[in-house]
Amino acid sequence: MSDPALDLARELIRRPSLTPDDAGCQDVIAERLSAANFDVEPMPFGNVSNLWATHGSGAPLVVFAGHTDVVPSGPPENWTNDPFAPIVRAGLLYGRGAADMKGALAAMIVAVEAFVARRPDHAGTLAFLITSDEEGAAQDGTRRVMQTLEERGIKIDHCLVGEASSVKHTGDEIRIGRRGSLTGFTTIHGVQGHVAYPGEADNAAHRLIAALAGLAQTEWPAGDPAFPPLSLQIANVNAGTGADNVIPGEARGQFNFRYPPPIEPETLQSRVEAIFARHAPRRAVEWRDSGRPFLCAPGALRRAVIAAIGAETGTAPALSTGGGTSDGRFIAPGGTEVIELGPPRASIHKANEHVALADLAALVRIDGAVLDRLL
Ligand SMILES: [Zn+2]
Repeated sequence: MSDPALDLARELIRRPSLTPDDAGCQDVIAERLSAANFDVEPMPFGNVSNLWATHGSGAPLVVFAGHTDVVPSGPPENWTNDPFAPIVRAGLLYGRGAADMKGALAAMIVAVEAFVARRPDHAGTLAFLITSDEEGAAQDGTRRVMQTLEERGIKIDHCLVGEASSVKHTGDEIRIGRRGSLTGFTTIHGVQGHVAYPGEADNAAHRLIAALAGLAQTEWPAGDPAFPPLSLQIANVNAGTGADNVIPGEARGQFNFRYPPPIEPETLQSRVEAIFARHAPRRAVEWRDSGRPFLCAPGALRRAVIAAIGAETGTAPALSTGGGTSDGRFIAPGGTEVIELGPPRASIHKANEHVALADLAALVRIDGAVLDRLL
């Protein structure tokens, strides 16, 4: 028996689309959506492939968002099959991207094909926003497409992102918000010298350790209780020449905040600067703002998703704000209602990544049922 979502997922997994190389996945998607009477517009930026495709007109504008790129497979010997030669074993589809997120892309496309076939004159506009740069720098992907749409005066009302949100079964958990991510890179300068003559040197390692200890001991604001509390983690510490008789003249540290709203990254930065100023007068701190936090207020999309999941599974999804960042961070700030709904996430980014065929089929039905309620 042929399974259109499985067939399409396999076709996408066979293309080794390591970020930002789309490897032809979006050509496959464009062909399918064109055949379903979508207006398809490639929107490449730099070496990133993006796709914007619409069907219908007017409000509401409902968007399915996703990415065709995948993370590297890691050593192939850790896999039981070639990560880019998908196989089905015991009801599970194995391959890089099966769960994150070529399976979900296939499910949305198959659900939408069926929806526009049965409701060609549906209300509002149905659209796809697909990028090949979600797992990487994410500079020329969804971010740039959103800028382009904004320049055209296009506002997305509701957006379903196909990230692997679930735990055991599709729909047992959805994401309604995400924490922000802020990384600091610091270089602390001292004066190199002989360990026997500390008075003639200035130990940069001592200063870095004191500054980082200051960060770790700080009580940071907790933020919105709907989110996991703020987390500060020191990720890298480097100092020293390797010799045991040299005081290091320079030391580097890297740390990352995952923080809930309403905390602003500027607040975190100024507190870090104040702590560092006490311990290391000569220093530089560089910042990478990888995404502001967001939390979507309950709206028509959330109601439709919860009802569709209830009809499919008989249970209500847990509403989560956990996990890392996703491209939802670029879509939500304009006031768009964003929900992440995808298959179980346990195997994403790992060897032997997989999705259960039952979870894929459930996602097709839920995506279709959401559209029936929204448009
Ligand atoms: Zn993903």
